[in-house]
Amino acid sequence: MVDFDNSYARLPDRFFSKVDPDPVPQPEIILFNAELAKTLGLSDWSERADILAGNSIPEGAEPLAQVYAAHQFGGWVPRLGDGRAILLGEVATSNGRFDIQLKGAGRTPYSRNGDGRNWLGPVLREYIVSEFMAAMDVPTTRALAATATGAKVQREVSYPGGVVTRVAASHIRVGTFQYFSARQDVEAVRILVDHVRRRHFPQAKTTLDVYDAIIAAQAKLIAKWMGLGFVHGVMNTDNMAVSGETIDYGPCAFVDGYASNAVFSSIDRQGRYAFDQQSNIAGWNLAQLGSCFVPLLQEELGSQEAAIEMLSQSLNQFPDLFQSAWKSVFAAKLGISQPTEQDLELAQSLLTLMEKQSVDFTNVFAGLSSGAARDQFINATEFDHWHDLWQKRIKDLADAKEVMQAANPKIIPRTHRLEQAIQAAIAGDFKPAQRLAKALSQPRILSPDDIDLTKAPTPDEVVPQTFC
Ligand code: AMP
Ligand code: MG
Ligand code: MG
Repeated sequence: MVDFDNSYARLPDRFFSKVDPDPVPQPEIILFNAELAKTLGLSDWSERADILAGNSIPEGAEPLAQVYAAHQFGGWVPRLGDGRAILLGEVATSNGRFDIQLKGAGRTPYSRNGDGRNWLGPVLREYIVSEFMAAMDVPTTRALAATATGAKVQREVSYPGGVVTRVAASHIRVGTFQYFSARQDVEAVRILVDHVRRRHFPQAKTTLDVYDAIIAAQAKLIAKWMGLGFVHGVMNTDNMAVSGETIDYGPCAFVDGYASNAVFSSIDRQGRYAFDQQSNIAGWNLAQLGSCFVPLLQEELGSQEAAIEMLSQSLNQFPDLFQSAWKSVFAAKLGISQPTEQDLELAQSLLTLMEKQSVDFTNVFAGLSSGAARDQFINATEFDHWHDLWQKRIKDLADAKEVMQAANPKIIPRTHRLEQAIQAAIAGDFKPAQRLAKALSQPRILSPDDIDLTKAPTPDEVVPQTFC
């Protein structure tokens, strides 16, 4: 028996709409995360395709869709909300409280023209990529299960439908604050700040403390993304969780050959969310969040000017926090656990070389400790020069190796591999997806059977664009 304790459902009615999942014809579990289930006390759900697909509502759940707003690609959308996701409720564990959400469970009052459904492609991608991120210690929503529904979903063509059971510290987004702020519902903003404080930042005392904590969490998060060559692809303000977890694995991708301005998402035509734009965009999103807090700080400080001044000071910390987090992340990738300012340059100069020859991001870093990195470069002279500098910096290679092995995955969810697994799943074969999920849940370990997963795509395997 699960103990649901639904704190979000206890917020005022205007925070959500109660709505049940729509039943589907033939639920079938494709992937089940037994380890995660255990920590949540949900192990018996391994046999409950009916719950995971939304056909049965577990006792204690209070299904609802959350309301939020967003800036999507910079354009303001005053009301969005969960259009294809339904929150079943929250389970309280010794490791904290977790949302259990079904993504693709049917229409809600926020579905607009959408069908409220998900298909197997995005379902499998989210499961595999989010679990890889978790394995690499990147804050992220988790995946408890991927379930086929037995129904068809109409997109450009017809696809098999699916539901991903998402687990998150919460699903509160920058856009959740924006929704109430734009309506000048200061009371709701205050309630939400308090909810977020208690849930995510219990050490925070004031609204400003909460803002600072969110800013610090995002700085670390984006640096970690960059350390894996991750491009989120759709950093709209509804896709930024205030908990600091990565959320919404839509058109995301990892770079193969390194390009600092890599863009994969078919809908990101301007490169707004390119690899090297991600920290700027996070800052922009955090500025939007800060403006939601003005009325609250104004009350606390007695003047609007003082409120804006304090919030700006907090926001202005973001670039330094990010830079410092970036330095730690990339130094660790080079085997350095106590980075200095010079290490910033050491890392940057390697990236410059990599970009020049478009060498494989993952394989260069994974190959540094074994010597295999050199083989990635067509012209290795410049790399040899860099390698000398690096060797001088690293005194104890054994120590450095340990740091590097923790920081650098041997395998990543490469887009062409995900695509192959999705194509197989569409044809009814779930084995490639199951294999990827298993291998990528331990990305620092390379089993001899998985050598093929380390390979960059051949020219005819390249998937240049990703879709939501
Ligand atoms: P996303 O691009 O995933 O962040 O989604 C943006 C908004 O569109 C969110 O409010 C989603 O709930 C909504 N949405 C996306 N796909 C669908 C769909 N198939 N049916 C209904 N709403 C959707
Ligand atoms: Mg979204
Ligand atoms: Mg999405």
